[in-house]
Amino acid sequence: MHPLPGQFILVLTLGIFLCACRLTSDEILSSNITDVESISPVTSPELPAEFSGTIAYQHILNQAAFGPRPTGSTAGRQTGDYIIKALERERWHVETQSFIFKGVAGRNIMGKAGSGPVIILGAHYDTRPIAERDPAPEKRQEPIPGANDGGSGVAVLLEIARVLDVEATRREIWLAFFDAEDKGFIDGWPFLVGSRKLAEALTRKPEAVIVVDMVGDADQTIYFEYNSNRALSKEIWAIAAELGYADTFIPEPKYFIFDDHIPFLEQGISAIDIIDFDYPYWHTTADTADKISPDSLKRVGRTLVTWLERPKEDQPFTRSVLDTLQQSTDLHNVPKLDYNLDR
Ligand SMILES: [Zn+2]
Repeated sequence: MHPLPGQFILVLTLGIFLCACRLTSDEILSSNITDVESISPVTSPELPAEFSGTIAYQHILNQAAFGPRPTGSTAGRQTGDYIIKALERERWHVETQSFIFKGVAGRNIMGKAGSGPVIILGAHYDTRPIAERDPAPEKRQEPIPGANDGGSGVAVLLEIARVLDVEATRREIWLAFFDAEDKGFIDGWPFLVGSRKLAEALTRKPEAVIVVDMVGDADQTIYFEYNSNRALSKEIWAIAAELGYADTFIPEPKYFIFDDHIPFLEQGISAIDIIDFDYPYWHTTADTADKISPDSLKRVGRTLVTWLERPKEDQPFTRSVLDTLQQSTDLHNVPKLDYNLDR
């Protein structure tokens, strides 16, 4: 944490970013889908057509039922399998990127649909192995439950997978579920391991990357994040205001956050982090589902769905990015690495 005079600046993850080296074939793991039938499915014939905060909330409860979900844990693997099944149920094409980092197996998951320029919506699904900010010292070595930090971003993306009219977006949408975001400063790990692996393996440059993290707090306030692309932030906050969410989407910057958008920004990609960092239960054992409101999930989900489905020629940010992409002679200025897809 590094506050500067006169400003509210926190650092979520101070990364000493280790080299995320190219994977060798020996390091590529195959995806084994384990049985997750014990978790109640969230589909039924009477489901609403619009993004439902209640259904998103059910995704949080389902993740919580696996227990804490650190990278490499059984619960983490089960959560990944749950995400894959949810995506496949909504007919998204699923790809996984498996990796080993410091001897621990991690796995990024992507659901893809549509055609056109690529937009990535991302969220981490791993949860922090220790609750170092817990008020009770004896609990600081326990893992966090991660209802908000881990669970909420996944929940919003999975409900978007159900309701998004992909054709209307005229885009290829990638829903990216990052592993290994939240083990920084533990056992010599940096933060952002999974998203860095994915960013380094991109073979197409996305038009935009939108990361959603810690968005479920019942007492929701979402400010611009300083590292995020400001034009894109303004565009999305304007949609939120249009939908009546101006009280919670506040168009002013408040924090510098090192989150999963950073590896994409480092590659010159327009990226933002949608995060509500005013969450007192962050990295504590009290980050549980009772702190989450379905309405908070709904506000974020509906804002993103509306932005995605709106014709992009009406939106200044995407219009200008498209002009840039069309004028560029080198659309492949992202280093091309092996993107080993085991599905
Ligand atoms: Zn965290």
